[in-house]
Amino acid sequence: MDKKLRRAVIAGNWKMNKTPDEAVALINEIKPLIADADCDVVACVPYVDLFVAMEAARGSNLKIGAENCHWAEKGAFTGEISAAMLKAIGVEYVIIGHSERRQYFGETDETVNQRVRAALDNGLKVILCVGELKDERLGGITEEIVRKQTKVALANVTEAELANIIIAYEPVWAIGTGLTATAEQADETNGQIRKVICELYGKDAADKIVIQYGGSMNAGNADELVARYNVDGGLIGGASLKAPDFAAIVKAASK
Ligand code: PEP
Repeated sequence: MDKKLRRAVIAGNWKMNKTPDEAVALINEIKPLIADADCDVVACVPYVDLFVAMEAARGSNLKIGAENCHWAEKGAFTGEISAAMLKAIGVEYVIIGHSERRQYFGETDETVNQRVRAALDNGLKVILCVGELKDERLGGITEEIVRKQTKVALANVTEAELANIIIAYEPVWAIGTGLTATAEQADETNGQIRKVICELYGKDAADKIVIQYGGSMNAGNADELVARYNVDGGLIGGASLKAPDFAAIVKAASK
């Protein structure tokens, strides 16, 4: 399959950064820089920024996402936000299973699956994060880890629903550390994830699914990473908070 048949997605993960005013300012800076993008562009922002971010992005090619959602529709889950709530205010994308959620907030493959299910049931597009720890890579079990994370996260997800799933391969040791996986490592692991999709859903689904790389992707290394056959764009943390850097990554994915 020609890689060009998959449309790359560059998504920013703002994490716990930017007040609503700052969010509007950053979006206004980003918009003109990505107007000609030949890939999909998303900014995943803190919950409190969603309304103003969607308003600021209206009429542009920048789409807005959230950084997490709960699996229940409503109820006694203090501090949580449901997929139904995100859908109700017009949010399009949601990141699920980010390693920081797994590391600091007790997220497991099983709760990731529950959140994925809820997001799909509410018509959201999911950016599903998987990736190994440093010790797991050094121990030679990266493929095993991403296989399990992918399989469990996608339990009870149909082939048709896969159209609303993007997988972001994010080696945990590369997130926010300045250490980037080599283009070979990213391509290889993304290929292993594509193989899992092939086993679960068949070749057509595997050829079509968008698999991003994430982990210290920046204006300097994006070209090489996104040029790889199995790397369909990126999930970008730090560099998504600087409009010119984010735009340079979008440009690399548009080639
Ligand atoms: C992320 O948070 O998903 C991420 C990839 O962060 P960074 O680009 O800062 O490594």
